[in-house]
Amino acid sequence: MVDIRKKAEEMGITIIEKENYTDIRGAVFKKDDKWYIMVNSNDSEERKSFTIAHELGEIILNDNNELSNDAKHKMANLIAADLLMPEDIFKNDILLNNDLYQLKKKYENCSYEAIARRMLKFMPYILTIFDNKKIYIRIASDSINFPSSLAEIENEVAEKCYQIKNCCEKDDDNLNVKGYYIDESRGVERVILLTEVLDIN
Ligand SMILES: [Zn+2]
Repeated sequence: MVDIRKKAEEMGITIIEKENYTDIRGAVFKKDDKWYIMVNSNDSEERKSFTIAHELGEIILNDNNELSNDAKHKMANLIAADLLMPEDIFKNDILLNNDLYQLKKKYENCSYEAIARRMLKFMPYILTIFDNKKIYIRIASDSINFPSSLAEIENEVAEKCYQIKNCCEKDDDNLNVKGYYIDESRGVERVILLTEVLDIN
């Protein structure tokens, strides 16, 4: 796991835990030539880590005047994923063992969702996330043409995960589907499906 606080400190950046922040995750400012990152003290450590990595991205991009704020913000998210899950190490990890529960143990300061999204970059998958049995997102690696509707086997795996509150795997001639049950607390039961297309016609 990357210690992002340590990394920020090594870059000479001070992290401030800000109380009474309402909806804001974090912010960044410069004072007397020194950078400060503020994080919401009420957030989980996982959330704070991502915020710090994101703000580091914004600092890295600060001098780039060609980018709009929106573009900077999006790019900072990519930098954050890259800082927390460095490409070389992460790629190697998923080749050795692509089990989402195992990856979470190694990258414990990243959310399951962030890890799964990162997996799409390096392996051809369709990612479907259900919150309380409703689809929250369905996206795929760039190289895949995928149906927006769920395959029968994907439905079966998702249902099974909710039933057993654990992981489950099934495949047929075309698809390999792995599902992971995650109790997100705050009343959200999440299932993450990673579908691999075995036979693309
Ligand atoms: Zn931002």
